Amino acid sequence: MSLYCGIACRRKSSWCYRLLSTYVTKTRYLFELKEDDDACKKAQQTGTFYLFHSLAPLLQTSTNQYLAPRHSLSELERLLSKFGQDSQRLEDSVLIGCSEQHEAWFALDLGLNSSSSFGASLQKLEMETELQGSFIEMRKALFQLNAKDASLLSMAQALLRWHDAHQFCSRSGQPTKKNMAGSKRVCPSSKIIYYPQMAPVVITLVSDGTRCLLARQSSFPRGMYSALAGFCDIGESLEEAVRREVAEEVGLEVDKLQYSASQHWPFPNSSLMIGCHATVKPGQTEIHVNLRELEAAAWFSCEEVATALRRKGPYSQQENGTFPFWVPPKLAIAHQLIKEWVEKQTCSSLPV
Ligand SMILES: [Zn+2]
Repeated sequence: MSLYCGIACRRKSSWCYRLLSTYVTKTRYLFELKEDDDACKKAQQTGTFYLFHSLAPLLQTSTNQYLAPRHSLSELERLLSKFGQDSQRLEDSVLIGCSEQHEAWFALDLGLNSSSSFGASLQKLEMETELQGSFIEMRKALFQLNAKDASLLSMAQALLRWHDAHQFCSRSGQPTKKNMAGSKRVCPSSKIIYYPQMAPVVITLVSDGTRCLLARQSSFPRGMYSALAGFCDIGESLEEAVRREVAEEVGLEVDKLQYSASQHWPFPNSSLMIGCHATVKPGQTEIHVNLRELEAAAWFSCEEVATALRRKGPYSQQENGTFPFWVPPKLAIAHQLIKEWVEKQTCSSLPV
């Protein structure tokens, strides 16, 4: 059996499909939809759609959590018709995944790229009433979604934003054309193919062996400290980016470096966060904060960090004259790095 038979065998009953794992068949199915516009259009017939308005996802409120509803093609066509929009609008949708049963999931922004009055903000309220939900800013919504929806909606928003910002070819100035799945845009004039991009960012938790270094930017919520983060420069390796960022931001030299995990992050504009642990060279513990980049940076003990991990900011009130020290929430890779570090220490406040 060819390794690639999952692409050719379309019927789920075929014996070779059964030999491939669910993950592989899903991946092969999505690959096919990205490559074949007709197959993707067909998948819209049985697919479901997450809706956005000006990059804010449509959400419904459940107890202390947001839920992201999906709409069928027929529901969406009814909605488009009600709000005076051509069904051609569906071609602006992007493929973002599928269920194990190969129900394709798409995302469509009802407020972006509007050539008619459809995107006008006045209609937003009417749409919310019609859809029995609200378009909530992603920054507000992200931490109140379950992990699966948070990841899907982040990806969808990133892709919708990228398409909105790449309507024209940077070489010829001509309009670019999106493929049906939204996995690329092509300039018909210069034939250049544009693929969605993410900016690589290194996020590093620095330790001196017994303490870890956390920092804050003035834009952070009050009291919140996090790991050091910065964009990779062009031409840099991951290792070079970590060393440079740590030297630039706090004036320390990295000795050892270990990759931990990575995460897509939608803010401010779709980054690939690459999480690492670093230790500084022995004897180098004096911090020289680069005030162009940071407001403050300090060493924290394991006990202090373990306590901060349990706090849930942001805080609106001071305690003993200062805002409580806390770290980013669970969904953020910074939280995971800090948690990993605490779990390797022997402080008494465990478990986190
Ligand atoms: Zn061009």
